[in-house]
Amino acid sequence: MRFLSLVGNSFGCSASGERLVSAARDGDIQEAKALLEYNPRLARYSTFGVRNSPLHYSAAHGHHEIVYLLLESGVDINLRNYRGQTALMQACQHGHWEVAQILVLFKANIHKADYLNGGTALHLAALNGHSRCIRLLLADYIPSIPDFWSKLQKGDHESIPEFDQSGLHEVINRTSDGGITALHMAALNGHVESVQLLLDLGASVSEVTVEDGTTIDLIGAGSTPLHYAACGGNAQCCQLLILKGASLTAENANGWTPLMVAKSWNRNWLENILTKGPEDDLQVLPSPYLSLPLMSIVKIARDCGWRPVDTTSTCLDPCAVCLERKCMVAVEGCDHEFCTQCALYLCSTNSASTTTQGPPGSIACPLCRHGIVSYVRLLDTRPMTKDVPRTNLSLSFCTCSSEILEEEPSDIKTPLCKSTPRGSPAVSFRSLSCQKFPSFKLNSSLCLGADVSSSVVPNRNLRSHLANCSGSGFRRSSSVKEARKSWFCSLNQSVATGT
Ligand SMILES: [Zn+2]
Ligand SMILES: [Zn+2]
Repeated sequence: MRFLSLVGNSFGCSASGERLVSAARDGDIQEAKALLEYNPRLARYSTFGVRNSPLHYSAAHGHHEIVYLLLESGVDINLRNYRGQTALMQACQHGHWEVAQILVLFKANIHKADYLNGGTALHLAALNGHSRCIRLLLADYIPSIPDFWSKLQKGDHESIPEFDQSGLHEVINRTSDGGITALHMAALNGHVESVQLLLDLGASVSEVTVEDGTTIDLIGAGSTPLHYAACGGNAQCCQLLILKGASLTAENANGWTPLMVAKSWNRNWLENILTKGPEDDLQVLPSPYLSLPLMSIVKIARDCGWRPVDTTSTCLDPCAVCLERKCMVAVEGCDHEFCTQCALYLCSTNSASTTTQGPPGSIACPLCRHGIVSYVRLLDTRPMTKDVPRTNLSLSFCTCSSEILEEEPSDIKTPLCKSTPRGSPAVSFRSLSCQKFPSFKLNSSLCLGADVSSSVVPNRNLRSHLANCSGSGFRRSSSVKEARKSWFCSLNQSVATGT
């Protein structure tokens, strides 16, 4: 019987696909491995309706080992669900930086935007204050050179080698519907660390929101990130923006300055900050998430791999951090050697505040505290030879490919392999397609899969209301315009609840 359920007849394919979805969601790597060994094409299965693939489920739940397994089996890394979200967007929304790291190493497209509101992975990471994810998303734009931060502060971009200033500017200031940037999102929600990181990496303080007919914007079109920070009420966010030159007198389309916005939302404690200019003696340190060596190690990992091929053989001179894997890279400067995986992890987990020496944005070498700015590969670390992807295996009887569905949304039913919903799909779906800001002013038809676990939900009654209405998000009944309204209504609602 077990064998029958694994082979790809129409019933078995769907059943196995659902089993893989469950394994991906629950983090059952053994089950996922077994299913993929029998049928690698199962990696491309997607659930009925919402079209989340196993990759989406494992990314949204932070099961990075399964994400790796699925990518190795050749699944399309940029698969979208019904609302256009990729696995990278879901990992960033939920702050699973280890998943984001793997997806970035596999070159996931960071530019993909949600169909419903135009938000990218960067918007979702900023919305929820996931600074590590923000940094990983920008890994290919921040060169591993010692004076990057100080030069960028001075506006001296020209003299930075390998630096694509306009590319970074475009990515970091990319707007979603309504002209909202990642900085607006982080500022509104009071995510100080994310605001600081975005500013350090060159996010613009003068981008303004626009009236594009898709928003119900209670702050008003023409608002800068400082208007949003004033509305959100976080004093540190306001201070950081002002220090970076945000205008105190900028008026939005309603004629409101940031101070007027703060007053209208009863953020009285901001009055002082938004009246006086920046304090001259205030020194701001670089963001602890700057992590200069990231680009250098990402390049090495992509070229040479970062997972040991043979885990059974013992290494004679292993990495000093994990004590098991072979050293593949060395720190430029102190020459201490590490395995690629530990070098990568240091870039996301090591805080700059522990560095005793080294330029801003360097991270401390765990062996000597030298400030690491870049890694170099060791002489015997060689680039990988490319394998033939496992998706090339011919399994023509199974047609449950999400790629086919992506092109032809109406063609959900295929004659041989019909995707069927599980018994209670809303349960598995709820945490996946969600937006951070639930709005209790909206009726349930507008409530498009609100995230009931969200920290901005103010009380238990509201949580249960949202739990009830999240099921309605499962139907794609709301029009795109309504969905957009819900994104921005909720945005404003989060402000009203004083979070
Ligand atoms: Zn190691
Ligand atoms: Zn060292």
